Amino acid sequence: MIDHKDIVISGGGIAGLVAAVAFGDAGFDVLCVDPTVPITNRDMVGADLRTTAYLQPGQAFLQAIGVWPLIEDRSAPLQVMRIVDAVGPDLVTKDFDAADISDAPFGWNVGNWDMREGLLSQITALPNVDFKPGLSTTATSTRSTEARVTLSNGRVISCKLLIAADGRDSAIRKAAGIIAKRSDFGQLALSFAVTHAMTHDDISTEVHKSGGPFTLVPLPDFEGKPSSAVVWMDMAIAIRAMQALPNDAFDVEITARSAGVLGPLTLITARTAWPIISQLASSFYSERMAFIAEAAHVVPPIGAQGLNLSLGDIEVLLELAKATPKSLGDVTMLKKYHQARRPVAQSRVIGVGALNRASRADGALASQARALGLDAIHRIAPLRHALMHLGLGTR
Ligand SMILES: Cc1cc2nc3c(=O)[nH]c(=O)nc-3n(C[C@H](O)[C@H](O)[C@H](O)COP(=O)(O)OP(=O)(O)OC[C@H]3O[C@@H](n4cnc5c(N)ncnc54)[C@H](O)[C@@H]3O)c2cc1C
Repeated sequence: MIDHKDIVISGGGIAGLVAAVAFGDAGFDVLCVDPTVPITNRDMVGADLRTTAYLQPGQAFLQAIGVWPLIEDRSAPLQVMRIVDAVGPDLVTKDFDAADISDAPFGWNVGNWDMREGLLSQITALPNVDFKPGLSTTATSTRSTEARVTLSNGRVISCKLLIAADGRDSAIRKAAGIIAKRSDFGQLALSFAVTHAMTHDDISTEVHKSGGPFTLVPLPDFEGKPSSAVVWMDMAIAIRAMQALPNDAFDVEITARSAGVLGPLTLITARTAWPIISQLASSFYSERMAFIAEAAHVVPPIGAQGLNLSLGDIEVLLELAKATPKSLGDVTMLKKYHQARRPVAQSRVIGVGALNRASRADGALASQARALGLDAIHRIAPLRHALMHLGLGTR
């Protein structure tokens, strides 16, 4: 027997779950499947220890679909982006304050485990959204009027639109014959959380010393102590060595690598390592299919661009679906989606990739060039403001 849905979403990562809420909230009949069960507690084995800085446009979208009020009290505002050059004997600090361009902070940082919990409770409140963890999509066939999706339990679902949110190795994208160009930087990002002696004062601090950036992103206090999430990028061999250290030796290393900007750091979670790649799909659609989030694009975790870009994909797809619901998933709608989103993603993949190359370059010349560039950006107000808007995606 074949069941019918308006939309099937393959993948219940954060992007897939946001899409399920967004389309469900707009009244579409949605099925979302994922082979894994989302982990909503950072102390559980297998938890995704990353946090996400939701920039202003992404936060506004989450507010509009009713998710933000559910996690707001677990978010920490990011008012200032501080860049610290710790290469020489003296620390050189440049602050970029959101107040320069806006009444609101740049963004708000939320643990991925907390966001998953908020999204799942919103899905429970939507009777037209069916989320089935433990199931995957195993095959698809399409014709101009529908997609047919086979699930791992053997059921076949017919839908108007199949949204592939099945991650960077998207099986759906590959089966559709869509190529994705990948650059592997040979780096890993180590992700964990710490407490520290000094308060972070809503400042996100990126410390440059050697290898890639070491970034402390504010979190709400943990057991009465100031706390931050850390993303530490470096070549894979260096990160693997740090991952293997016992906790007390690790605390010494991270305090030194942070140049002591928040005093001694104490690890409070496990450590997870993430490969750093850039990737862009040649097309963001195929017959009756839209590729979103990491199924369409991947950028290194610099400047909080990845998931924010994905929220933009979902917002545009939703606007198109709401504008002409009868055309859901047809070629005209999907072409418009591709034309709106691929150029934006392409510019982010190029821009963030270049920033990553610049920030990991070691040696006196490279660090001098970096310091001069940063100084110019910081000193020239229109350039500073333009770059802050660009990073936020508000211009
Ligand atoms: C260290 C780090 C820090 C980051 N910080 C930020 C930040 O501050 N701001 C920001 O905007 N971005 C950030 N990002 C990027 C962000 O984390 C990613 O963009 C995001 O997690 C990717 O989500 P996704 O849903 O696209 O993919 P995934 O999380 O990979 O989800 C894909 C899902 O698809 C499922 N799946 C796979 N195959 C199938 C199948 N056949 N059927 C059904 N389901 C399937 C998988 O089980 C998985 O759950 C960061 C990334 C890293 C590495």
